Amino acid sequence: MKRLFFLLGVLVGAAIVASRLKKWLFPYESLGEPARAVEPELVYTTASGQKYHRKDCLYLQGTMSPVPLEEALVTHEPCTVCNPPRLTVHA
Ligand SMILES: [Zn+2]
Repeated sequence: MKRLFFLLGVLVGAAIVASRLKKWLFPYESLGEPARAVEPELVYTTASGQKYHRKDCLYLQGTMSPVPLEEALVTHEPCTVCNPPRLTVHA
């Protein structure tokens, strides 16, 4: 009987180790789908600037407003410092 409990303990231990190992190997599996670009990509413009920026650009100071990328492309140029995303146009 003692031997049975020992075996059970080994099995449970192995299961715990396996689940930890899995978490270590696939850390993002349990988080579900990562946030993909389902929502429109946002860039940032300033009231006076002619360019649009990433959110963390050092040129973004004071008033900045989030604008969908498609919209910003019409009225603004991409910043050369923060290199914001641009839409690739397939001809
Ligand atoms: Zn910028």
